Amino acid sequence: MSGEETIFALASGAGRAGIAVIRLSGPAAGKALERLSGGGLPVPRQATRTSFQCPKNQDTVLDDGLALWFPAPASFTGEDVAELHIHGGPAVIGAIVSALAGLPGLRPAEAGEFSRRAFENGKFDLTAAEGLADLIDAETDAQRRQAQRQSRGELGRLYDNWAERLIRAQALSEADIDFSDEDIPDDLIGEALAIAAELDQEIAAHLDDGHRGERLRAGLYLAIVGPPNAGKSSLLNRLAKRDAAIVSDIAGTTRDVIDVHLDLGGYPVIVADTAGLREARDSIETEGVRRARERAGDADMKLAVFDATDLDCDGGLDPLTLELIDADTFVVLNKGDLVTTCLPRDIEKRPAFAVSAKTGAGLDALLGALQSAAAERMAGEGAGLTRQRHRVALTACRQALARAAVAGEPELLGEDLRLASRELGRITGRVDVEDLLDVIFSEFCIGK
Ligand code: GDP
Repeated sequence: MSGEETIFALASGAGRAGIAVIRLSGPAAGKALERLSGGGLPVPRQATRTSFQCPKNQDTVLDDGLALWFPAPASFTGEDVAELHIHGGPAVIGAIVSALAGLPGLRPAEAGEFSRRAFENGKFDLTAAEGLADLIDAETDAQRRQAQRQSRGELGRLYDNWAERLIRAQALSEADIDFSDEDIPDDLIGEALAIAAELDQEIAAHLDDGHRGERLRAGLYLAIVGPPNAGKSSLLNRLAKRDAAIVSDIAGTTRDVIDVHLDLGGYPVIVADTAGLREARDSIETEGVRRARERAGDADMKLAVFDATDLDCDGGLDPLTLELIDADTFVVLNKGDLVTTCLPRDIEKRPAFAVSAKTGAGLDALLGALQSAAAERMAGEGAGLTRQRHRVALTACRQALARAAVAGEPELLGEDLRLASRELGRITGRVDVEDLLDVIFSEFCIGK
């Protein structure tokens, strides 16, 4: 599939570093390594000290480093692969890259091309490739664990298992058509339908996961809302442990939404500081308030921040903010350092956290609660789906199963089951469904 071209690229990050790794993949990788090292190929999969020379002038040493040789098929891509570990300076990298570019049959790799070749050579399925991409992007521990599970094929195996069961159901319905006059066990259709119904339930349970995997991948959105000067920006800075937002006693300072990425006990949370909710004084503030409301509406969780000194016998808290409080809201009474009276334990039936963004008092309890809420919404056992793409295909799979349940004719049933398994194949990228069908079908005939 990947043709005869040999590709190369800097596999480590750009910029100065102790070492850099350049990876080559394709039929000319071995030859290129020989040209650069001026000798034979190293022992496979063993780091070998190598002096990299200019292929045109063997007296010019470009760098000293290590070479690794992974002959096909036992390599990342399934092709011949070589890795050059060199010093990580821009000039060293530049010299080696231009030497490689000058060799016959070599060209720079395109984005994702190594992984694509690995997929095309059957090294892993599409979900594992996505897991690998997520692993590289993972910023928190829980994200890393999820990406690792997926890159190891956990999700792919689940979907493959479902596809195999569907294909068995399809084989049963086809057997009913092909061998209807012969002596075969009678209720093949019933068995096929039972498999489909059982799978439908499993897929429904898998889909009904509160979007955990997708949330963990993208991060949970937490919007800080409240009236101007309640201490929203101060609280954000406390949570971020840095000056992310401007703190000022001039009301209406925060006019746009400021996002800060936090790692709460391994769970990624994107906290947004928003403009104070009030009747805006100018058009910029109007837009800020509109964005604040929009963000509050889209957020997974909210922090409603009030100035505790506003509390009086009649309440006294900002009505615009009170309106936004729901089951996913944490209520914060800030500026606890300025009040001596007892603060209410809950507001609008939600527990109220008394804190002081100035002194830090009460923040540990708030952070603890946020962390538990984040874990509750993102932690999960087993393989969870991580992308809308998975959700769309699984939903289409269930629709095909629903049609199969009422198909009536074995031919129609078989077709709906085929469409259902094709949706699963779309997620994993496995297209060999027909081959598998042959295998299962022949087994079935022998067994009958
Ligand atoms: P925002 O408009 O809601 O973002 O509020 P800011 O974070 O900009 O704070 C408004 C003012 O209140 C600033 O002068 C802060 O220094 C002050 N402030 C914020 N939190 C506290 C607190 O816990 N205690 C006291 N005493 N002042 C605070």
